[in-house]
Amino acid sequence: MKYQYDLQIHSDLSDGDWPIERVMFLAKKRGLEGISITDHNTWLWFKKKKKLAQNFGLQYIQGVEISTKLFQTEVHILGYAKNFNIHIIKAGLKKTINGYNQRARQMIKKLREAKITNISYRDVKKNKGTNLAITKYDIARAIAPQLNVSPRQAQKLLNTGGVAYVPYGKWAMTPMVAIHLVQRAGGVAVLAHPGETHDKLIKKFGDKEGDKKFNTLLNKLIENRLNGIEIYSPKNNTVVKKFCLKIARRYSLVVTGGSDWHGEKHHPELKMGDGGLTVRLFQKLLTAIKENAR
Ligand SMILES: [Zn+2]
Repeated sequence: MKYQYDLQIHSDLSDGDWPIERVMFLAKKRGLEGISITDHNTWLWFKKKKKLAQNFGLQYIQGVEISTKLFQTEVHILGYAKNFNIHIIKAGLKKTINGYNQRARQMIKKLREAKITNISYRDVKKNKGTNLAITKYDIARAIAPQLNVSPRQAQKLLNTGGVAYVPYGKWAMTPMVAIHLVQRAGGVAVLAHPGETHDKLIKKFGDKEGDKKFNTLLNKLIENRLNGIEIYSPKNNTVVKKFCLKIARRYSLVVTGGSDWHGEKHHPELKMGDGGLTVRLFQKLLTAIKENAR
């Protein structure tokens, strides 16, 4: 394992396999020094996560990953803080959480219409805590036993190209708005796994136009005072990694890293610590967080 600090990890508060306690236990077992649990679109348990991490002897940074949309493509913005202003994050994410749940209803309707399942939105919702967004993985987990496949397999029905796929609606904020939200709440805003975003743009618009859109995206984010880029991610290919590192240096952006671990069932290909930061870069990130805190 190359990194001691893994700053992109997910629990079952969003679309990970495990509750936060088990996530912490596994992080410690893996030999990590510090982590951030960056669940998608939730402000829940920022403090509880931090306290639990301390109990496990792990350094902790509060984190969140916000789902946004630009060029009809999903772009993820990470927020990191010492102590987020929860009221601001909560108000800022309301539309996204509602949008997600509306999308979940539409997906379930499509599944039912295709006679793939008879589960209802309520069946899925009851397995998820209140104030949490229903993710594709939540639906996949609910229908998997009926289909006699793994949740990961079931999720293919809900992914791009699947019969029950529903894209983000008008409710999705732009990544620029997400940057402002994170910063207003006292955090630093980081572009998550640029390699994944680049891949999506290439797939949608082709090599040349996809590249152009990726550059436009970076420019727009930098104009809107993006604080950092997630460089050390297993989702970044060498070309994107090098290019983004150059951009980070040119604009004095902070560099972050994380594995995007979701558990061995949801994403068996991603292991904790396969992305992340060394002690030296982690200290730099802490300094940036301190300097940007309000
Ligand atoms: Zn992401």
